[in-house]
Amino acid sequence: MAESIILFGPPGAGKGTQAVIISEITGMPQISTGDMLRNSVKNNTELGKKAKSFMESGLLVPDDIIIELISERLKEDDATNGVLFDGFPRTINQAVILSSIVDISSVICIEVPDKEIVKRIVGRRMDPETGEIYHLTFRPAPNEIKDRLIQRKDDNEVAVINRLNSYHEQTSPLSEWYESKGILTRIDGNQSINNVELEIKKLFKINGD
Ligand code: ADP
Ligand code: AMP
Repeated sequence: MAESIILFGPPGAGKGTQAVIISEITGMPQISTGDMLRNSVKNNTELGKKAKSFMESGLLVPDDIIIELISERLKEDDATNGVLFDGFPRTINQAVILSSIVDISSVICIEVPDKEIVKRIVGRRMDPETGEIYHLTFRPAPNEIKDRLIQRKDDNEVAVINRLNSYHEQTSPLSEWYESKGILTRIDGNQSINNVELEIKKLFKINGD
């Protein structure tokens, strides 16, 4: 399999929002473990049943479940030319297993302070028809689709505290791990969606990709 990219950062940093442009630039499909898990929960699969309570309380789903999900996804045809991982890996163990199956060319880390994260997560809304991500204040949806928007069950102030704790304890050490390998690029995510997008575009131009 060709080299892949990891989009890294705390919950609500803007990974899903910016994944769209990176997929467009690179042609790599976005693989979001969060989206895949939500689909499994929605379809009430065995895997979804195991993951549900962890997700609702804002805890990380056990590594064996995530590795099963990812291994299956990477067998699909569109994964052969490299993929864009969004929200994976989230533990050192996941990263070690990933490194044994896929080469990673770069890790893009979107940095946002915790106090901004809470505002972003509580105001996040999704369009179930297109998967588009909106925000009540920062990215309002067009009027004609406002009635069909949904809010994620874990996008509340209680779960967000657990999600931030999981991030700081289990996930953020990964940034140093990738930094020590010389493949991590940090982006200031604490600016408008358009400005973050501009930085990402610059990054790809500078890298000559
Ligand atoms: P993640 O995938 O990292 O969890 P999302 O892309 O879903 O994050 O973004 C979380 C919420 O914050 C969404 O409602 C999105 O519209 C909003 N958002 C994303 N990027 C920004 C930004 N740069 N400034 C303000 N709000 C943002
Ligand atoms: P996200 O959509 O990335 O915010 O993920 C939503 C929830 O899914 C997280 O709070 C976790 O419970 C679970 N999850 C998603 N990706 C992972 C992962 N790589 N490892 C463990 N849990 C995950």
